[in-house]
Amino acid sequence: MASSTQGQVITCKAAVAYEPNKPMVIEDVQVAPPQAGEVRIKILFTALCHTDHYTWSGKKPDGTELLIPRVSFLAFLAMKLLELLKVSVKESLKCSLVIMSFLVTKRNAENASFARAERPTSVVKFVLLQYNYIGLGAVWNTAKVEAGSIVAVFGLGTVGLAVAEGAKSAGASRIIGIDIDSKKFDVAKNFGVTEFVNPKDHDKPIQQVIVDLTDGGVDYSFECIGNVSVMRAALECCHKGWGTSVIVGVAASGQEISTRPFQLVTGRVWKGTAFGGFKSRTQVPWLVEKYMNKEIKVDEYITHTMTLAEINKAFDLLHEGGCLRCVLTAHE
Ligand code: NAD
Ligand code: MG
Repeated sequence: MASSTQGQVITCKAAVAYEPNKPMVIEDVQVAPPQAGEVRIKILFTALCHTDHYTWSGKKPDGTELLIPRVSFLAFLAMKLLELLKVSVKESLKCSLVIMSFLVTKRNAENASFARAERPTSVVKFVLLQYNYIGLGAVWNTAKVEAGSIVAVFGLGTVGLAVAEGAKSAGASRIIGIDIDSKKFDVAKNFGVTEFVNPKDHDKPIQQVIVDLTDGGVDYSFECIGNVSVMRAALECCHKGWGTSVIVGVAASGQEISTRPFQLVTGRVWKGTAFGGFKSRTQVPWLVEKYMNKEIKVDEYITHTMTLAEINKAFDLLHEGGCLRCVLTAHE
């Protein structure tokens, strides 16, 4: 699709991080025209959440292979947008945050039916869907929680809430939510959490509190924080003989987990999950379908909408725990 800025350097608004732990600066940046094998895409909004680094690959109906390395949710989005615009892509695409800054206008997105969704805001929901299916997949694919199970979820951020949602859909009889921030408990009820424990309310180690509460331990536990001592607690609150603990949270680099081997030799299982164990090429469309049929939540995770200029305020809210996911729009 030709556009008036084809082949030209364009000026875009960007939130630039010059230094770690410093506010971002909203600036105009110059973006060079795409080189061979690259495209420019205008993005109207983005979702503030962790980025991760998987490769998205897919095929267009004419058999053209699309390979977009890194930043999977944006890559998934890029692929969907290219499909919608019927852009023919012959080579593999280099996808970076920069290429996400141009091409699709709001009107284009409005005119096309984007995977059967009517409005451009649907695009951002596909971005958010990825965060839900990590949690859903941890339950459905990695742990394979059965009906009647007792489940403990450590950390009730977006990932932990999605684990609770998955556990509820799997028919868990008790879903115990554990968080040091009690204001998470109200919202967590809507995602299936049936009981709440704040470790700060107890003198005993949290694993002991959960074992006592469940008469011997839980069938499944999920660590959704990224804290290695909580990972240990999550394993140790599992029932001996069969209890399974899944590490979903990503610990800081260089950190190590530990426990006594006795914990494992007595039959507990320690596992981890990436991407919720879904096969993205075949199963992401299936998940999108489930969302469209209102079988899984997405909108419920969006607690705030702000403009790009408010990005630092949005980060503060995320850090304070006052926000699950914030959608940033490009326009005022
Ligand atoms: P978040 O920051 O929104 O939620 C974390 C929650 O844990 C918060 O509610 C916080 O109050 C709570 N918490 C912090 N310390 C605690 C403690 N000691 N005990 C109990 N609760 C505590 O994070 P999120 O977006 O939900 O992500 C959770 C984790 O999942 C992160 O580590 C993220 O990197 C990871 N993640 C994993 C994958 C994967 O594929 N495995 C993918 C994406 C994200
Ligand atoms: Mg969160």
